Amino acid sequence: MAVPFRRTSKTKKRMRRTHLKKEAPTITNCPKCGEVLKPHRACTKCGYYKGKEVINQQEETEETK
Ligand SMILES: [Zn+2]
Repeated sequence: MAVPFRRTSKTKKRMRRTHLKKEAPTITNCPKCGEVLKPHRACTKCGYYKGKEVINQQEETEETK
């Protein structure tokens, strides 16, 4: 198995890791009810996406009962 010729220095390691950072997740609000949502997803509260109802909330609740 190949082994690194030299140990990576602290500086080199830290320079590489300057690109590793956490990003805040993108969130949007539902235009119908204002619920906080991830983009390109149907609203979990009212079931609307792009102005149309794509999830029937009544059916969903009846099934869970
Ligand atoms: Zn909504």
